[in-house]
Amino acid sequence: MEKVRLGRTELMVTKLGFGGIPIQRDTEEDAISVVKRCLDLGINYIDTANGYTTSEERIGKAVAGRRDKVIIATKTGARNRDDVAKHLNLSLERLQTDYIDIYQFHGVNNQKHLDSILEPNGLLSVVREAKKSGKVRHVSITSHQMDIAKKAIATDQFETIMFPFNFVTDEAATQLLPLARQHDVGFIAMKPLAGGMLDNPRLAFKYLFQFPDVLPIPGIEKVEEIEEIVEILEAGKKITAAEKREMARLKDELGHKFCHRCDYCQPCTMNIPISTVLTSGSFAKRLPEERFFGDMVAKAMEAASNCADCGECETRCPYELPIRTLLNEQVDWFQAKKKEYLARTAAK
Ligand code: SF4
Ligand code: SF4
Repeated sequence: MEKVRLGRTELMVTKLGFGGIPIQRDTEEDAISVVKRCLDLGINYIDTANGYTTSEERIGKAVAGRRDKVIIATKTGARNRDDVAKHLNLSLERLQTDYIDIYQFHGVNNQKHLDSILEPNGLLSVVREAKKSGKVRHVSITSHQMDIAKKAIATDQFETIMFPFNFVTDEAATQLLPLARQHDVGFIAMKPLAGGMLDNPRLAFKYLFQFPDVLPIPGIEKVEEIEEIVEILEAGKKITAAEKREMARLKDELGHKFCHRCDYCQPCTMNIPISTVLTSGSFAKRLPEERFFGDMVAKAMEAASNCADCGECETRCPYELPIRTLLNEQVDWFQAKKKEYLARTAAK
């Protein structure tokens, strides 16, 4: 498979990586088969995170015996030094390895979090020590927030950046990728299918494959999904005029509904985690059902049903999303889905 240089890490990664969120939904046997199939297809970049429950452990089992052929990236969302160290050691244990190729600060979406990483004796210093002792090879960051991502790149402290990028959420093409190139920071594209809103992988991946130094990491649950994307890559990257028109049409249609998870709309008067509610369709595709209905998403939906209709969030959303309407739609959708889930589990 074609390889690309991942910025200043100097790692040569395959043009397509593997995102390890959805294998949480598989049985362990199926999850291991999915990861092994990716390796057999030639993919050498595997992304996971401390927060993805069983994902690291399953990946560890799947890559056993082939560790030296794989670049493993994982993440910590920890907010204090002790937890960063704990997360890192847990990742090493779960992944059955003595080093992480790329260790990422996860979901850095506000200045406070970025400061806590960069300040003297901050979170970064823990990972730097781990780098000296060989536990970590490269230090990186992930974000959904354009301003924070730009600042992070400009510090020259991170070797890669992961940011949402697809033909609907395409700001990265003009605003972030040129800056990443300037600082020689590797660019990893999360949400290549716009969090599940794009159901045409051919269009979505042809768009991303046209950027020679971007590494898309689709979340993969089934063997057939990764086989389809590899076929798209092998069939050639040239985008036809009809495909361009279809991308523009979909961008126009979905652009007014798609939440970028940037959180510019916060703070909400009623403490509603707006982006979690608006992107819950994507969680439904990625999380095991018992977690989706019993955990963070359920709490977010409960909060959303208390929206005070003040409209303040809408004045702050740079994408002019009709947040209140979308919240209501999501709550209705969630309730209907939960009813169906409860009926199904009761019948078992
Ligand atoms: S309209 Fe609802 S979601 Fe928006 S800020 Fe007010 S309470 Fe929060
Ligand atoms: S609603 Fe708008 S401001 Fe809030 S997270 Fe989504 S895209 Fe960003």
